[in-house]
Amino acid sequence: MNDFQYKEQELWCEQASVRAIAEKVGTPFYLYSYRTLKNHFHVFDQAFAEIPHIICFAVKSSSNIGILRIFVAEGGGVDIVSGGELYRAMQAGVDPRKVVYSGVGKRLDEIEYALKANILMFNVESFQELTEINACAQRLGKKAGIALRVNPDVDPQTHPYISTGLKENKFGVNIEKAIEAYREARKMPYLDIKGVSCHIGSQVTKISPFVDALNRLKKLVYLLREEGTNIRYLDLGGGLGITYKEEQPPHPTEYAKAIIDASKDMNCTFILEPGRVIVGNAGILVTKVLYTKTNEEKNFVIVDAGMNDLIRPSLYNSYHQIQPVVIKKRKTVLADIVGPICESGDYLAKDRNIPEFERGELMAVMSAGAYGFTMSSNYNSRPRVAEVLVKGDRSYVIRRREMYSDIVKGEKIPIFLKV
Ligand SMILES: *Cc1c(COP(=O)(O)O)cnc(C)c1O
Repeated sequence: MNDFQYKEQELWCEQASVRAIAEKVGTPFYLYSYRTLKNHFHVFDQAFAEIPHIICFAVKSSSNIGILRIFVAEGGGVDIVSGGELYRAMQAGVDPRKVVYSGVGKRLDEIEYALKANILMFNVESFQELTEINACAQRLGKKAGIALRVNPDVDPQTHPYISTGLKENKFGVNIEKAIEAYREARKMPYLDIKGVSCHIGSQVTKISPFVDALNRLKKLVYLLREEGTNIRYLDLGGGLGITYKEEQPPHPTEYAKAIIDASKDMNCTFILEPGRVIVGNAGILVTKVLYTKTNEEKNFVIVDAGMNDLIRPSLYNSYHQIQPVVIKKRKTVLADIVGPICESGDYLAKDRNIPEFERGELMAVMSAGAYGFTMSSNYNSRPRVAEVLVKGDRSYVIRRREMYSDIVKGEKIPIFLKV
């Protein structure tokens, strides 16, 4: 996280003062470092330099078009999971030949949109979806590139909510079913079978589950080739973890090396779909302390960001480091950091030893760049916060804070209720 550093007791993002940005845009807001984002993408991409590959950034992890543009400008593609994400990626100028479309529930209009945009391939998650895509491609007079998303049944040893490659998960099809499905797909004239794909989960901090998955997929690729299916792409999904607290995930170069070593002579273009590892530690959430209070049990720090702005602690009980934006000499207290939302589950941190924060003070919630803003909502009719990108000593608002009028945008009082 070298681009979020203290200088003279104050937190800086690159050469910009976080406090100064807060004074300009108000709180709460998400703050991203351009340099970190670009570096992370570059390091990941370079790690695979030895083999043909496309880095398809997982849009759902951080989808602002200003951020997508950084990766697109570096030659990256995207992994999308909806028509809306395709729209965003196109706004960012993505090359459609570098777009892969994942997700268990693609609607017909979304399939049509993606076919018209000429994306590289659909990562298909069921037999019915295959027939839907084939029929849609026929109507449009096109061939749809596809891969089947295989569930390799490996345990990524991560949080159950973000583990996707086990038998009991809804994602993909198991290998036996996949072999059958590829045979059926070969009979569908409007499909171009391009690859095999998988995605085992998120915040994975070991290499072995990825290698296990790859080895299972490899066998499948060889078998399919024997049967005459020309598999050209192997999509290993995303999922590489980051350090939130004390995790020690492998560095992208180690991860890449293990994959490269395990894939010798496969003669495939590899697709990687990293999300968190690129953006997670490239962004923070800046919030302001509204009040502090103490009851018989606990100390509370009440801040102006809530679970609608950053839901990860409430949803996954996940850990984000809490830091003051301006360091002062003071004692440490045990406290919960909570938001203004009317839910007991509305917290950013629980039972944390933190400096004794004061009213009006700025607080940085670290490692909030992935699944932060993208999972935010208007719950409690709270306007969604601003997003700011820093490059050098300059900051750019890449999403303005919502106004009250944005909150009711599209709503309508029915005619019979009008006075
Ligand atoms: C969410 C997702 C990713 C990205 O996962 P990270 O853990 O953020 O790297 C990649 N591929 C698919 C199919 C996904 O659903």
